Amino acid sequence: MKLKAIEDVDVSGKVVLVRCDFNVPINEEGEISDISRIERHAPTITTLANKGAKVALLSHFGRPAGKVDEDLSIAFISERLTEVFKAPEIVIIPDCIGDIAKQVLTDMTDGQIALLENVRFYEGEENNDSDFSKSLADIADIYVNDAFSVCHRKHASVHGITKYLPSYAGLALKFEIEMLENVLKNSEPPMMAIIGGSKVSTKLRLLENLVEKMKFLAIGGGMANTFLAAQGKNIGSSFYEKNMIGEAKSILEKAKSINCDIILPIDAVVADKLEFGVESFTVDLKDIIKKNMILDVGEKTVELISNAIINSKTLLWNGPLGVFEIPPFDQATSSCALTTAMMTRAGGLVSVAGGGDTVAALNNAGASGGFSYVSVAGGAFLEWLEGKTLPGIVVLTD
Ligand code: ADP
Ligand code: MG
Repeated sequence: MKLKAIEDVDVSGKVVLVRCDFNVPINEEGEISDISRIERHAPTITTLANKGAKVALLSHFGRPAGKVDEDLSIAFISERLTEVFKAPEIVIIPDCIGDIAKQVLTDMTDGQIALLENVRFYEGEENNDSDFSKSLADIADIYVNDAFSVCHRKHASVHGITKYLPSYAGLALKFEIEMLENVLKNSEPPMMAIIGGSKVSTKLRLLENLVEKMKFLAIGGGMANTFLAAQGKNIGSSFYEKNMIGEAKSILEKAKSINCDIILPIDAVVADKLEFGVESFTVDLKDIIKKNMILDVGEKTVELISNAIINSKTLLWNGPLGVFEIPPFDQATSSCALTTAMMTRAGGLVSVAGGGDTVAALNNAGASGGFSYVSVAGGAFLEWLEGKTLPGIVVLTD
């Protein structure tokens, strides 16, 4: 698969519409709590501006459901854009289609940057409507997608628009795909995956795909309970998915037949309920009693997982091993994340992590900086790992 790259295209004097992901997290005070999503687009945007393009930035923000919702206007991020891109001034356009938007963009000087309004204010966006796609294409000469995180969505600004404009991949998108390809396709064995999170059902295809590719597959989090139940083990009053027992069994069987080493918890941190300050202790799996809820994997399990990390050359991580939001149930995740970071820094390991909660859990551990790559794309990251073809990527290939 070869992406059409924007680097060699003559963009001088052209209006280049760049699909970004500025769907930044907002804290309780209504401020942007993390600008990494904005920073990721800096290389593409500054490169285009320096080459004399008239750069039109397009993104969604929140879920306005196809209607104008002033509370979800994207204009407020323009100040942060000015900081990050060191641009003197960002032109704010109160729409993302139409004659006025087109006129403003055409009248900009070469190298100027404009911010278009939230693309999800139009119903046609999520419906991948062809008229709306055409209207988006109408305001620009060239289309660039720089947002891997939206590539699993068949939306007008990701998919439909590419029918009507010469379309390319931006630098951030290309880099993200290269990192993911490195870890899945060109990676050095032995490979390991750590998969956690709450449910087997949301990650079934992922597990099926990984069993075939990995030497070690460590399963933690709530989903491990379903696997333990499938093995007939006692999990007390832990959360698990009864209707996924059959699937869990077949994954275990498949792993056995192709020599994939599945690592399941052998001990656990348990409590009687899930709340801050609750009394908790570590027990071997065989000693779990009826009222115990498994909220994290135990130290012995951490040791098993850490040994596998140390013996791997490539590591992929999605999903926390415990309820990391409530200490001390973040400990196993933090410990394994720090081991991963240490091995990566030492040069023996390529490590890639992704997923909304996973990124939060690694940040909580202070370990994300030590990974080779951390993807902020939740859904797109998972679908890519499942082996799916992403609609936003296909349209950017030759
Ligand atoms: P990601 O967003 O990175 O893909 P998930 O959404 O699949 O990750 O999983 C994250 C959630 O899994 C967290 O909210 C965490 O509290 C939950 N979780 C982890 N371990 C357990 C457990 N033992 N029991 C219940 N929930 C768990
Ligand atoms: Mg999640």
